[in-house]
Amino acid sequence: MIYTPEKYSIPDEKMKPFIDKNEILEILKRTESPTKELVREVIKKSLNKKRLSLEETSILINANSEELINEIKQGAKTLKEQVYGQRIVLFAPLYVGNLCINNCKYCGYKASNTSVKRVTLNEKELIKQVEALEDTGQKRLILVYGEHPKYDPEFIAKSVKTVYNVKKGNGEIRRVNINAAPLDIEGFRTVKKSEIGTYQIFQETYHIDTYNDVHISGIKSNFDWRLTSLDRAQEAGIDDVGIGALFGLYDWRFEVMGLVRHVNHFEAVYKVGPHTISFPRLQNASGLDIDKKHLVSDKDFTKLVAILRLAVPYTGMILTARESSKIRDEIMEFGISQIDGGTNIEMGGYTNESEEQELDNEQFQINDNRSLGEIIEELVEKEHIPSFCTACYRVGRTGEHFMEFSVPGFIKSYCQPNAILTMVEYLEDYAKPELKEKGYNMINKKLINYTDKKFKSKLLERIEKVKKGERDLYF
Ligand code: SAM
Repeated sequence: MIYTPEKYSIPDEKMKPFIDKNEILEILKRTESPTKELVREVIKKSLNKKRLSLEETSILINANSEELINEIKQGAKTLKEQVYGQRIVLFAPLYVGNLCINNCKYCGYKASNTSVKRVTLNEKELIKQVEALEDTGQKRLILVYGEHPKYDPEFIAKSVKTVYNVKKGNGEIRRVNINAAPLDIEGFRTVKKSEIGTYQIFQETYHIDTYNDVHISGIKSNFDWRLTSLDRAQEAGIDDVGIGALFGLYDWRFEVMGLVRHVNHFEAVYKVGPHTISFPRLQNASGLDIDKKHLVSDKDFTKLVAILRLAVPYTGMILTARESSKIRDEIMEFGISQIDGGTNIEMGGYTNESEEQELDNEQFQINDNRSLGEIIEELVEKEHIPSFCTACYRVGRTGEHFMEFSVPGFIKSYCQPNAILTMVEYLEDYAKPELKEKGYNMINKKLINYTDKKFKSKLLERIEKVKKGERDLYF
């Protein structure tokens, strides 16, 4: 029998903390050693595009035999293929400022770390970074800020507007997402006006004792203020939000449950889940001061990503350059929808001539140093369609992640053709000849699958227009 949706010990209400540590621990205990049948039933439910309850997620977490873990991974792979198709959205992070008043044991930018050079990009410097990113073909950025009074909502909004205004050649940034400290409702309103995409805030750990231990001082040490931050964003009209946990601070099983509980909270109160889930894994950082006992092995990491895919089938999943190219390639199959490419997280790093990234200048170490071009080439070789698409947000198809998921044919009619159109722009404007050839070969192969002649001719017409110099065409 599959467990029915849980009755939460803490009811879901707007802006009220919703994590009950004992409830999560009790469910994890109650579902220990599930039968094969039960695990298979849960996978089947997810393949029917149903979000899993906490109990069902916990059943997958507690499935420990190789056989069942392989079935979970296969399930995630099938779901990805059925729902999301072959496209992967690309973006780059851009650090705007690393001043910080918090002291978090895992973070290289903690206030007490005096070996870090503190930098806030001024307008001119920000423009230079964006131009350098546009020169490589980027169209989507996530701006990252430390937590500091200087980075108030007006500052954030102004930097977003600056980025949107930078146009170099055919380059432009069409979507600016944010990763910054939690704001109050007024603050979120101010930032919303600058037309941000997703506001992303990670809880880091949903386990309150660990949270209190690793966040020594600063505003971030208030668990509930952070936990309810995206509720305040919703109140301010930002319904496009990203959640995440920093894996390695506490038991990964608990964190997966925390993330799913966060999704449930959003669904219960706002009738919309988060747009994206992130699962950064703890990396080395300057002054890192962490108990290593909860570090997550590659094996568990792969399993947990597959479980998250199955638990929340409609949400975008982001895998960053914290992970090596090998892990990224392996895990991408299990339902990743977005990756960063050509990443440099040093302050001002995109115009830095030196190839070496220095730990003292970064928030943490990254493990995938491939350029955007190299990543695109590898995606193409594996028959993924790299995408810089930003169409839905700009034509007001909101809640688009639900559409991708629930509107039959949405991927085929919108996401895939738009991915192809942005790929053609990239091939024309930025690709080396060899990649251009490979890219067009891949596109031609994908075009064969379009059997609707009318639609195909529209798509071909737009491809030709892009080749002749028109830009920003989409369905
Ligand atoms: N100051 C903002 C905040 O506190 O939300 C920005 C944080 S930072 C750019 C984004 C994320 O990087 C953090 O939320 C955390 O999950 C992650 N991070 C911090 N230290 C890390 C480390 N040593 N290894 C991997 N990820 C880390």
